Amino acid sequence: MGVAGEASRPAAATAPPPLEGRTALVTGGGKGIGRATAIALAEMGASVVVAYRSDSGAAEETAHQVGGSAVQCDVTYGEAVQAMVKAIGKVDVLVNNAGAVRDNLLLRMKEADWDYILQTDLTSAFHTTKAVMSGMLRARWGRIVNMTSVVGITGNPGQANYAAAKAGLIGFTKSIAKEIGSRSITCNAVAPGYVRTELTEASLTDEIVAELVKRTPLQREGSAEDVAAAVAFLCSPAAGFITGHVLVVDGGLSI
Ligand code: NAD
Repeated sequence: MGVAGEASRPAAATAPPPLEGRTALVTGGGKGIGRATAIALAEMGASVVVAYRSDSGAAEETAHQVGGSAVQCDVTYGEAVQAMVKAIGKVDVLVNNAGAVRDNLLLRMKEADWDYILQTDLTSAFHTTKAVMSGMLRARWGRIVNMTSVVGITGNPGQANYAAAKAGLIGFTKSIAKEIGSRSITCNAVAPGYVRTELTEASLTDEIVAELVKRTPLQREGSAEDVAAAVAFLCSPAAGFITGHVLVVDGGLSI
């Protein structure tokens, strides 16, 4: 009886997923926060392209998980980025997630480590954003999310290069938001606090992590999924009137 009743009932109208028909590019998307972001955007209906520098295994695994594709691209090379975007065709959602750390006190910091971090955490966003921008302008729609850090807001001893790059990314975000807002393209930043990934595993001991958790009002470590949820929100229709914003995801650590 139940079956017949259900069959005769008209199908409920379900709204299509909000990013259906959109292509999302997540740089450094093979693991960590990038992987969680790729999954979150795929769940919103986007076709996801995961860009990776060298870890093809992790990127292919993520791509398989989200039913998308993986593409090799070192985002510090402008020409490589241009070629990647051309091969993808159109990019509606760009998440500038690729990043790295090379920590040291300034007196001991090598110029090469300064340059490397500025290239990886800041100049990469210049290359990718420039490459996708004309397509977004033509489409009169786009979402750009830049992965900065609370360190870009507060500073951190031993991370002058990283903090400078991430602070630069915030200025970049706000400038781009003003440049392209008239075409319904938003550009926002997400600023995670501490999240356990390969990036932090090497530099933060268990004692430092315990201390950070103690100072965090929400009394726990953040997860890659916590950060991905913020990115997903900024790409959702609900965030259509939000641009140039820096969304801090740190359990309250920086307040
Ligand atoms: P992760 O090391 O797992 O991810 C970084 C990814 O970027 C890696 O896949 C790496 O291969 C990729 N990458 C680095 N250089 C690249 C390049 N030149 N071209 C292409 N890909 C490149 O670390 P994560 O913690 O997931 O970091 C993701 C982002 O979040 C980074 O921008 C990082 O600065 C930021 N972030 C992380 C934390 C944290 O606590 N984990 C806090 C604040 C901000």
